Amino acid sequence: MSETQQPITILGAGILGLWQALRLARAGFEVRLLEASKEPFAASASRYAGAMLAPDCEGEAAPEIVRRYGHEGLRLWRQEYPSLVNAGTLVVAAARDRSELSRFARLTSGHRMLDADGLAALESELGGRFPSGLFFENEAHMETLAAMRFLLDAARAAGADIQLARFGDGDGAADEDGGRIVVDCRGLAARDRLDDLRAVRGERIVVRARDVDLARPVRLLHPRHPLYVVPWPDHVFMIGATVIESEDDGPATVRSALELMGVAYALHPGFGEAEILEFGAGLRPAYPDNVPRVRIERGGRVIRVNGAYRHGFLLAPVLADVVLGAMSNVAYAHPLLERADA
Ligand SMILES: Cc1cc2nc3c(=O)[nH]c(=O)nc-3n(C[C@H](O)[C@H](O)[C@H](O)COP(=O)(O)OP(=O)(O)OC[C@H]3O[C@@H](n4cnc5c(N)ncnc54)[C@H](O)[C@@H]3O)c2cc1C
Repeated sequence: MSETQQPITILGAGILGLWQALRLARAGFEVRLLEASKEPFAASASRYAGAMLAPDCEGEAAPEIVRRYGHEGLRLWRQEYPSLVNAGTLVVAAARDRSELSRFARLTSGHRMLDADGLAALESELGGRFPSGLFFENEAHMETLAAMRFLLDAARAAGADIQLARFGDGDGAADEDGGRIVVDCRGLAARDRLDDLRAVRGERIVVRARDVDLARPVRLLHPRHPLYVVPWPDHVFMIGATVIESEDDGPATVRSALELMGVAYALHPGFGEAEILEFGAGLRPAYPDNVPRVRIERGGRVIRVNGAYRHGFLLAPVLADVVLGAMSNVAYAHPLLERADA
């Protein structure tokens, strides 16, 4: 740490806090990362993520700024994480839902249309099931918890002091040393300071399906029940779908379970024999426009990084670079940066 660099306390070891810890420690700051839960990731929204880096597909519904900086996020992950799977994303729809595929193609970019043969060449087990598909070649995915463990270890190796079972105060007041800059990455817990933050529930199921082989995430379009399947090692798949405007963090409902499993079975009958490993629901922290922000408060003493919505994995490295930029230069400006007391 240089003489002018102030020590930093990061609150929360979700995907945003992990990237902050890694980037800031590597840049030479003295970094302490406090995580409230005893087990790493146990209480995070991040553990529920599909961890797809899909800036082009997300362009269907996300604002342009997410797509633009999503490409930067993808580049930064590629530099950092050797186990990232760079196999793209496949988007399909049943013959009767062909208009859904055309709509998706119109709203997005970075794809090419595949006919049935092209689709079979890419994912042989889907051959013959769908008449066409969209291939987004420049996208990636990862196994969620493996990637988070990697980042935690990398942050520690870069010198970050990681303390579990430690609650930090959103203003840094409880920080015994005082005088440290607080980077607040508490996710939804930061609603005590961010009153425009809301929860958006997402339900997902993790299964082991020995009869299913997919190399890349597949999104199945459907007018009512769109779904995505993310392949992890050892025939484990994460199946997710729902975006629900709800603060309820209770278990997944029977209705969602039926929908998810029914549509997964329609995608590939091999899911009929799958073992269910985990069923759960996570709450995504989101601002009203669903765009994440770095907010600088109290003349730079407190920096809140939040609102990642569906794009926490995609944008975490970009948000870490924004914080680093703001720490290094008081005049630094970025579209994802707000100075609350400017
Ligand atoms: C079903 C689902 C699928 C998703 N799929 C994707 C995807 O494919 N791609 C993508 O980019 N994003 C995806 N997301 C979104 C992504 O998961 C979120 O944007 C991201 O997890 C938000 O991360 P975070 O670090 O802000 O919050 P969190 O992960 O919730 O982390 C906050 C951490 O702060 C800790 N904490 C709370 N209070 C304190 C305190 N006082 N002191 C210290 N620590 C504290 C918590 O214990 C927690 O570990 C998905 C989300 C869901 C639910």
